[in-house]
Amino acid sequence: MLNTLDSTAIQMQLSQGHLSVLSTCPRKFQHLYLDQLGLHQDPQLQERLDLGAQFHQLMQQQELGLSVESVSLANLSLQRWLAAFSAQPPAMISGDRQSEQRRILQFEGYLLIAVYDLLIEGAEQAQILDWKTYARPPANLQTAWQTRLYLFMLAETSDYPPEQLSITYWFAEANNRAKCSLTFAYTQTQHEQTRQELSQRLRQLTSWLTGYQAGQSLPQVPISANECSKCSFDLRCDRAASPVENRAGLVSEAQLSPETFIGSLELAIATDINQIPEIPL
Ligand code: SF4
Repeated sequence: MLNTLDSTAIQMQLSQGHLSVLSTCPRKFQHLYLDQLGLHQDPQLQERLDLGAQFHQLMQQQELGLSVESVSLANLSLQRWLAAFSAQPPAMISGDRQSEQRRILQFEGYLLIAVYDLLIEGAEQAQILDWKTYARPPANLQTAWQTRLYLFMLAETSDYPPEQLSITYWFAEANNRAKCSLTFAYTQTQHEQTRQELSQRLRQLTSWLTGYQAGQSLPQVPISANECSKCSFDLRCDRAASPVENRAGLVSEAQLSPETFIGSLELAIATDINQIPEIPL
């Protein structure tokens, strides 16, 4: 990924996944996206990535009014997820609908990227919809970078004021169908908070990247944050509680939260904006 920077951070493309990992641990960001270690060695992870990507394609096809039967019949999970959506879709506003809507925003010398599974633009409201193929929403979904960045970017790239925006997540594997979706509203105050934090983090990243190119590593998260015990780079970082062979550098799905997992997959291959597979889980 650093090669794509051509010795500068100006062209670096950042999605919510980059920001999520960067917030968790700058050294992890380095290992995954600058040093490009891990992730692609796990076939189960790849399989799940492919299935999630297929589901998103099917949802896009459905949105375009195309048949999805021949594709979805081949896989039980896909069948189940499509049936769940058909039985209980999230509440959606009326308006112009566009699936797989990509937005780019230049900010602090970076290109911020958002890919909305579905964007509905109404007369006085706009709604972002996001499909998740897991059951349980991460506890911090409202403050997750996906929620914050997606809403921030829509406010910055449209005429809607923040108070007219919302994001809705729909969970394909939700046990309780009555709780299969979650919607978060947005405010001007939240918008300014996100702008401030983004600005601060990206300036810090620029400084770290300059150091990285001079041979310095990005900082490790403090041990007290309790992130290292969940991280597969613990041996590499000399943060392992008990040494286990052949672990360093490999990241498994089980060791990543759904949000980080999605972001990581997205980011590991995000050197070209046209190749970013959004939300494949
Ligand atoms: S082991 Fe800890 S310091 Fe190292 S990358 Fe993982 S979270 Fe960061």
